[in-house]
Amino acid sequence: MAFGSSILSPDCSFDPFWWRAAPHETSSSVQAPPKSDVAIVGSGITGLVAAIELARAGRSVTVFDAQEPGHGASTRNAGYVGRTLKHGFGELIDSHGLDFAKAIYSELMEAFLAVKDTVARENIQCDFRQQGRFLMATGPAMYEAMAREFSLREKHLGEPFATVSRAEQKNEIATAHYFGGVRIDDHAGLHPGLYHKGLLDAARAAGVTIAGFTPVSRVGKTENGFALLTPKGKAEARDLIFATNGYSGDALPWLKRRVMPFDAYQTVSAPMDAARLRSLLPGDRTFIDWNFNVDWMRIAPTDPTRLIFGGLTGARNADLRIMAERLHARILRIFPELSDLRFDNVWTGKCGGTFDLYPHIGQHEGLHYAVGYCFAGVPMGTLFGRKLARRILGQPGGESAFDRPMPSTPLYWGNPWFVPYAINWMSRKDR
Ligand SMILES: Cc1cc2nc3c(=O)[nH]c(=O)nc-3n(C[C@H](O)[C@H](O)[C@H](O)COP(=O)(O)OP(=O)(O)OC[C@H]3O[C@@H](n4cnc5c(N)ncnc54)[C@H](O)[C@@H]3O)c2cc1C
Repeated sequence: MAFGSSILSPDCSFDPFWWRAAPHETSSSVQAPPKSDVAIVGSGITGLVAAIELARAGRSVTVFDAQEPGHGASTRNAGYVGRTLKHGFGELIDSHGLDFAKAIYSELMEAFLAVKDTVARENIQCDFRQQGRFLMATGPAMYEAMAREFSLREKHLGEPFATVSRAEQKNEIATAHYFGGVRIDDHAGLHPGLYHKGLLDAARAAGVTIAGFTPVSRVGKTENGFALLTPKGKAEARDLIFATNGYSGDALPWLKRRVMPFDAYQTVSAPMDAARLRSLLPGDRTFIDWNFNVDWMRIAPTDPTRLIFGGLTGARNADLRIMAERLHARILRIFPELSDLRFDNVWTGKCGGTFDLYPHIGQHEGLHYAVGYCFAGVPMGTLFGRKLARRILGQPGGESAFDRPMPSTPLYWGNPWFVPYAINWMSRKDR
């Protein structure tokens, strides 16, 4: 049997499953106008949310993407909508004090509510559902640490949670692999392809020009704003936003030095009996463990016969067949009974990590940026898109606790060769 052949369906695709419901454009005849009030580089969630707000406030807006609209992580992610940060609330209290911790975590709540509000306001049919999240512990000490962390959040932020012991966890997830966990009932999930499509439709309806297949290769200052160089010509804008996150490249070397691309991998199973799948994940939550380097899984939105499973973030392997093998093995550690599971889609996407593990919003030499979501860009990109627009419009609501200096490190010029080693080290720490 050829390597990998048994776990991939004969017509397995290496594009995201989400693109089936929200197909991507393969060409564009749109030409960017020579002048706009605002130019936005990047057509993911961040760029589009900013574009919608700005266009509705009367600004002419052009969004540039090097590839088709939505090429980046916004249509490749898992669709988890929660309040996630790589720094724990307790850790922030210890390192920076309670006020700082509350300011940061309150903004995570603002981001969560921004998605809920955007979905409702734009009437986006993306299966947004507050189905709750189950965070699994991979050891007894982790379970205790989670209980401490979430008790602090409940006490200071008023966010309720429930601990679920190892004995009780079968009501959420039918495996002995985990050591209990924490359930947060109001966390949500959505279909990333449909969320992005809803934003794209809303942006176009608001009059935004979406210039797909138009890479911005360089930007420079002009007397009245900025000039952007693309293979299709030069464009000018008074204001400029970079919303390129894990895809930040040579167009803005300053940003490239500060955002590390992390590859993340995801799969969707071939259809299986819905009752069988539900018996494995009876809680029907978004499931994710509490490690630094996480495994995550959920029943697919809009299709209860398919399992979404992802992980191995930071691994570097261009051959998705090999990554599929590794993910399949991880699934079997959790559900040994799924040895017959086949993948219909296996794909990858780039997250944006920062050296201080915070998302960042700010200005550099007059241009605006929002990046570095470290795996939480569905809510944070939505919120920062709004905030970027408010900053440019001079309206209240643009301020952010995440507007802090964004560090780089000496000798880092944008090649994250060390990421797999760092992730290996973190995984060992997780264990
Ligand atoms: C597998 C995976 C699972 C994830 N799961 C979740 C999750 O469940 N929940 C969550 O909150 N987050 C998750 N994330 C992270 C989340 O998807 C991202 O943080 C978020 O989508 C970033 O959105 P964005 O709009 O800032 O950037 P992106 O959507 O990445 O878009 C950036 C765009 O910029 C374009 N671009 C870059 N350079 C140029 C240039 N020079 N000229 C023109 N265009 C350019 C790119 O082509 C790209 O389309 C996940 C990420 C991955 C990869």
